[in-house]
Amino acid sequence: MHYDLIIIGTGSAGLPAGMYASRYKINNLIIGGQPGGALATSHKVENWPGVISAPGKEIMDDFAAHAVASGSEILQELVTDFQKTESGFAMKTTSWKELTSDYVVLATGNKYRHLGVKWEDEFLGKWVSYCATCDWMFFKDREVVIVGGWNTAMTEALYLAEICKKVTLVHRRDTFRSEDIWIDKAREADNIEFVLNEEVDEIAGGLFMEKVILKSGKEIPADGIFVAIGSDADTKLVDHLNPTKDDEGCLVVDARQETSIKGLYAAGDVTTNSNKFKQTIMSAAEGCLTANSIHEDILKS
Ligand SMILES: Cc1cc2nc3c(=O)[nH]c(=O)nc-3n(C[C@H](O)[C@H](O)[C@H](O)COP(=O)(O)OP(=O)(O)OC[C@H]3O[C@@H](n4cnc5c(N)ncnc54)[C@H](O)[C@@H]3O)c2cc1C
Repeated sequence: MHYDLIIIGTGSAGLPAGMYASRYKINNLIIGGQPGGALATSHKVENWPGVISAPGKEIMDDFAAHAVASGSEILQELVTDFQKTESGFAMKTTSWKELTSDYVVLATGNKYRHLGVKWEDEFLGKWVSYCATCDWMFFKDREVVIVGGWNTAMTEALYLAEICKKVTLVHRRDTFRSEDIWIDKAREADNIEFVLNEEVDEIAGGLFMEKVILKSGKEIPADGIFVAIGSDADTKLVDHLNPTKDDEGCLVVDARQETSIKGLYAAGDVTTNSNKFKQTIMSAAEGCLTANSIHEDILKS
């Protein structure tokens, strides 16, 4: 199946890219895994203009509905193989669909950073989680550790505090990059304890997880651990094409959102634009700009 444009990613950047592309009458497909991308995993979003407070999934369901209402097609599958062809791009999906397009917008976001400690991978999906909103239900009335000092760590600590008996926030510094409003709320919560200037050394347990051992030797009894230490641009689909990246691995794009590979545009957390301020509002704007730039290209061709 051939499209003018295939957008890879059904998140904050990909869905607006589709919505705008459809408004320019560019025949487009938006393909992605988890519907709504990263924001859909956030239990509460309070900085999307016009919506004072809502679950991320609600906002992203509206993004998807808006893209479809504008004329975009959404396919819930992953792209498994991606190639540059003479006239555009070719890709395969998890169900072996073969798709081609003249232009591509890569909007694959980030992948979670791991601690790299003993038993992290073995306990993954059981007692180790990278997403509180996805896995909270396994830890109702239990004690958990959350690691990190950014907004995600703070907001997830607050969320878990509503559900868990106790939340211990472990952070390797005594200062935070999180917005002060979240830090203040976390400090006010009765069941959130801050353990600062400490790093996780090991996750320990037997049949179930029992504790987190810190590099200082201190042990924190815990039934689960949430890792919220950031993420890296998910560029693996295009890495074999050697696109230009910055020293943090984000795709370098120009002011029109085009990568160093002609016809391959990128938007959202995967790029260097928006001063790498990784927020839905920035991703949505970058997604919108890709459609505008591709429309310009089509008019010129
Ligand atoms: C827990 C959490 C809370 C957040 N809270 C806020 C907030 O309150 N306000 C705010 O503005 N921002 C928030 N953010 C940040 C915001 O979610 C991101 O900046 C935004 O989602 C980035 O959008 P994106 O489209 O670049 O990537 P994403 O939303 O991550 O979307 C990536 C998409 O790419 C798809 N994908 C990846 N690989 C493939 C593949 N091989 N084939 C097909 N599709 C693929 C995924 O399935 C997904 O659909 C939060 C993030 C998290 C994790």
